[in-house]
Amino acid sequence: MSAPGAPSPSRFRVAIVGGGIVGLFTAYRLLAAGAGPVVVLDRGYLASGASGRNGGGVRQQWETVATVRLAREAVREWQGFPREFGYNIWFRQGGYLFLAMDDDEMERLETVRSAVRSEGLDARRLAVGDLPRRVPGICLDGIAGATYLASDGTLYPFPAVWGVYEAVRRMGGVLRYGEEVIGIRRAEGRAVGVVTRSGPVAADWVVNAAGAWSGAISRSAGLAPPNRASRHEILATEPLKPFLTPMVVRLTDGLYFSQTMRGEIVGGLTLRTTGGPEGGSPSSAEFLRRMAVALTGLLPRLGGLGVLRAWSGYYDDTPDGLPILGEDPELGRFVQANGFGGHGFMLAPASSRRIASVILGERSDLDPEQFGPARFRNPGRALRPEGAQLG
Ligand SMILES: Cc1cc2nc3c(=O)[nH]c(=O)nc-3n(C[C@H](O)[C@H](O)[C@H](O)COP(=O)(O)OP(=O)(O)OC[C@H]3O[C@@H](n4cnc5c(N)ncnc54)[C@H](O)[C@@H]3O)c2cc1C
Repeated sequence: MSAPGAPSPSRFRVAIVGGGIVGLFTAYRLLAAGAGPVVVLDRGYLASGASGRNGGGVRQQWETVATVRLAREAVREWQGFPREFGYNIWFRQGGYLFLAMDDDEMERLETVRSAVRSEGLDARRLAVGDLPRRVPGICLDGIAGATYLASDGTLYPFPAVWGVYEAVRRMGGVLRYGEEVIGIRRAEGRAVGVVTRSGPVAADWVVNAAGAWSGAISRSAGLAPPNRASRHEILATEPLKPFLTPMVVRLTDGLYFSQTMRGEIVGGLTLRTTGGPEGGSPSSAEFLRRMAVALTGLLPRLGGLGVLRAWSGYYDDTPDGLPILGEDPELGRFVQANGFGGHGFMLAPASSRRIASVILGERSDLDPEQFGPARFRNPGRALRPEGAQLG
């Protein structure tokens, strides 16, 4: 480990590509275990990727039991974050409320609810008549039912990113933003470092935490990753007096929204978009129109409310909706830490422990069949997709 301000070592134990929440949390875990020196390389600025563009939702309602466990652990970590990192992330456990508009959707919610309850979390089914108590002013037309877990919630992503960044810096991690990785160095079937625009960086291990760009990083290492990037738009309205406690998610169109501590309504919905992650992060009139119709249809009291900001970012999707965590079977010492779709922020405190454990030589509790990179290499293998992909 090197002290802050000390000259950068010429060789690192670990080089992490991507300094978003996943790369930073992984660096923090490694440094805390004494596994330095660690360098984090990011071509952008702090929080320029999805980690600075998301909705701050933290939920434990998943169809896959292993994900429920990771998410439950992550919730405990977020609760302890201010004590551990000295930053207030405004983590507010106001619940997540899922809305079903027909019997099929209600059945999907029930599948999730039974997975969540099997892990000891009190996910509840709500009667339609109870919804106005949780979501004042909600239009009940067409709603078939809802589920709710009180210990889910929301946080502010920026102080969380800053908090982990500062901890890594204090622990002697080398943080190089504005430095693009253009290739992975390989020797004898193993990764032995990276190449950046300013030259080679030697490392015993390389972690691919480049979010929506991790597919490109894998390809630059000669691999054929399954990751696909998809653009997602989101907006924030002008503030309203606090009235809404939970995050609300509607299965039909992926509409999700919550009210922040500042009173803004922040949310988005699923829109079919085209173009890769090199296409920039624009907002579209189509999104604003569809979002306005969806939001005011469900909550007519929001009609006439001004939109303050709208932006977009990229999900890093996988064919089965689960992240890819583990050493790549085709390139030793190259660790995949990506494929988080729309839920990598909430899971980062827990998934980073499993990513670090690969390098530390510790046993992970995650089934490699379910989370490991090898699961995509067998075309005949039936994937068990995570069904609860919304919000
Ligand atoms: C609109 C939207 C809403 C979302 N809502 C939620 C939510 O409510 N809850 C939740 O948990 N998650 C949500 N997500 C998903 C979440 O934001 C991501 O899963 C998470 O931030 C991923 O973190 P990361 O560190 O893997 O990626 P990123 O934060 O994207 O970081 C990857 C980094 O890699 C860098 N990089 C890329 N290529 C290179 C290269 N060649 N060389 C060096 N560096 C490179 C980038 O500059 C970037 O900083 C949302 C995402 C979006 C877009």
